[in-house]
Amino acid sequence: MPRYEFRCRECIAVGATPTFEVDRPMAAASDPATCPSGHADTVKLLSTVALGGRAGGSAPAPAMAPAGGGGCCGGGCCGG
Ligand SMILES: [Zn+2]
Repeated sequence: MPRYEFRCRECIAVGATPTFEVDRPMAAASDPATCPSGHADTVKLLSTVALGGRAGGSAPAPAMAPAGGGGCCGGGCCGG
């Protein structure tokens, strides 16, 4: 059964963990969900399942940061 991730606006407002997951059939994917704290003001996030691994989330840290010279300082963004 697909798993859908939701975010609760009310939990955001109170500083609680706002995201939760719900297992439900695809036919009910767009149904409203109530967060574990009982709040109804939730929004469904993009599905993170059934697409072959992780979708969304944070990108890996840049592994090719310039090690001195070149890059930014050649143009003028950090030229004084
Ligand atoms: Zn909540």
